[in-house]
Amino acid sequence: MHLYINTLLTYAFIAILGIVVGNISTTILYRIPRQISIFAFNNNHNKPFCSKCRHPLRWFEVLPIIGFLINRGICRYCGSKVPLEYVALEVLTGITSVVLYALFGLTEPFLILLLLSCAFLLHIFTLILNDSIYIEITASIVILCLIMFTLIQGTILYPLSNFAIGSSLAIVLARKKNTKYAQIALISALWLHYIYGCVVFALSLVDGQKKYYSYLYFVFIYFLGVAHIYNLIYSV
Ligand SMILES: [Zn+2]
Repeated sequence: MHLYINTLLTYAFIAILGIVVGNISTTILYRIPRQISIFAFNNNHNKPFCSKCRHPLRWFEVLPIIGFLINRGICRYCGSKVPLEYVALEVLTGITSVVLYALFGLTEPFLILLLLSCAFLLHIFTLILNDSIYIEITASIVILCLIMFTLIQGTILYPLSNFAIGSSLAIVLARKKNTKYAQIALISALWLHYIYGCVVFALSLVDGQKKYYSYLYFVFIYFLGVAHIYNLIYSV
């Protein structure tokens, strides 16, 4: 019984950790398309306010998930709807945190994967909201992937070779002004294997700049990547 409560408390803690990280992600989701620095702490952007009427928010209104529930998803000052994507990001990060903990325990891959999951979720949400992905998020995925695969595989050689081929493909695509696909190719190469980067590269030549449901691609390779990492860690 005692052990059972302990496990339950640990999972609750991990869920809250994920929700808090998700709450930080919502700030990034708001700031990046508006070109506000993520690291700007001492200006007016730092104080939470309604994104529609700019009315400052009280402390309980900015609590992750709870604030949304208290106000029933509506700003109490102007009556506009709070974007559902923000609370969805918090809930999804919380769920991801719990699932990753169940798979990997409290290890370095868990912590790095939690941050990587946030970056993937941010790419998915900015694709849905603005139909674009942002280089800052891609750069953080590159760094986190390099660190994680070096830790897991015990050498920087494999991740570095994936990165080298992925970035060469990305440079070619960027020259063709296909920056979205350039980033997708680079991420695929690092996150899975350079072969996947080449597949994306080939697809981009056929697909061009057409608007597709590219966020579904991120959902797909995210799960593939997590399975791949799980395999790498536990198949020894
Ligand atoms: Zn408002």
